[in-house]
Amino acid sequence: MNDLLPGELGGDMAPVEVWQHVERTARELFSRFGYGEIRTPVVEDTALFVRSVGEETDIVGKEMYTFEDKGGRSLSLRPEGTAPAVRSFIEHSVANQEPLTRWYYIGPMFRYERMKTGRYRQFFQIGAEAIGSREAAQDVELMDLVVQLLEALGLKEVSLNLNSLGDDACRPAFQQKLVEYLTAHRAELCEDCQRRLENNPMRVLDCKNEKCQAVVRSAPNILQFLCEPCKAHFEEVKRKLDALGVRYVINSQIVRGLDYYTRTTFEFIAAHPALGTASTVGGGGRYDKLLKSLGGPDLPAVGFGLGLDRLTLLLKEGGQKYGAPPDVFIAVADEGSADAAFTLASKLRREGLRVEFDTRGGSLKSQMKRADKTKARFALVLGQAERESGKAQLKPMAGGEPIPVALTEVAQTVRAAPQG
Ligand code: ATP
Ligand code: MG
Repeated sequence: MNDLLPGELGGDMAPVEVWQHVERTARELFSRFGYGEIRTPVVEDTALFVRSVGEETDIVGKEMYTFEDKGGRSLSLRPEGTAPAVRSFIEHSVANQEPLTRWYYIGPMFRYERMKTGRYRQFFQIGAEAIGSREAAQDVELMDLVVQLLEALGLKEVSLNLNSLGDDACRPAFQQKLVEYLTAHRAELCEDCQRRLENNPMRVLDCKNEKCQAVVRSAPNILQFLCEPCKAHFEEVKRKLDALGVRYVINSQIVRGLDYYTRTTFEFIAAHPALGTASTVGGGGRYDKLLKSLGGPDLPAVGFGLGLDRLTLLLKEGGQKYGAPPDVFIAVADEGSADAAFTLASKLRREGLRVEFDTRGGSLKSQMKRADKTKARFALVLGQAERESGKAQLKPMAGGEPIPVALTEVAQTVRAAPQG
């Protein structure tokens, strides 16, 4: 689990300013797309995840932080956001008030994993769920949202991988063929996959082990097994993506790690080497049967989850800076001007400027050193002469001519000064 800190303090993690930038950009986009924010607890009944994510998945099988509370209940730190969202949707009978519900969340998730770059035990997801529409347009709206987010963040090397998992009508036939094929290649599979073959054969398609991937390359293809309605839905998804000009590749190995998916599944995969095996920045899909299976109304739904840790790492690699340095550093020239300077700093902040002031006092020289370190745009030195004349100078810290300024007009002058 990581500490996220401002500036350069965060070590391997992206500075918190990068996180804030991604979150701000995402919130703005969610609002444009009509998604409202939900904030659910970080702990839920363990049973919720067992019933939704699935007992045989890695997440529930070996990655959950599960504990007993003082009342003897089994609780788990949430490993993902969809099950809590659906639990909340059912609990508040949202379907009765809002037949088409669009929600998003931003928050920490917990999985007991082996630490690597882009793989942590507390990580953050941005996710969205749309409940109430079975139409392809809903799937595509969500993918378009992610595409627009990646665009807004300037992340170009991320490709959309698309698949369909079919439904109860067509998937069993595929699964049977898949199990036959994998059983014939059993000896070539990793230990985990030999177990998955018994419990959750589709997951073998998703294994990152190279030997398993070699086997999987010649495995039966789910897309050749889709029934007519699933095929039509998939075609419609592709047609609408084309209509929006969204580029994608078909990848029949995108099965996702959770049990609840039906039909459309997708992943956004980064080409950047910084992420290693953690190259999937996010993914999602349709889960038309989950609500009913959790005791809710029989409503279709589709959603996605993006890993903020991985998104911010990609931006950090891009080397862009997001923090805003102070507009002005107010320095005190003499003891008698300390109150006036302190008051000026407060007033300028009220007027909207970012102002740095050294509350420790100290020599003018040490204050100017700090002004330099904070990368303030201007320094303004306030002493007796400035107080008496009502005039001071804005000294550009990057060099250049000082700008004369009336003490009553500092904010206007800073705003009007050309950016150097
Ligand atoms: P992976 O195949 O990389 O293990 P996953 O299928 O377990 O991913 P999802 O459950 O689909 O991941 O979660 C969606 C996104 O959340 C991932 O694409 C990733 O960006 C992020 N994520 C998942 N687990 C972690 C983790 N342990 N640390 C950091 N980010 C994570
Ligand atoms: Mg995982």
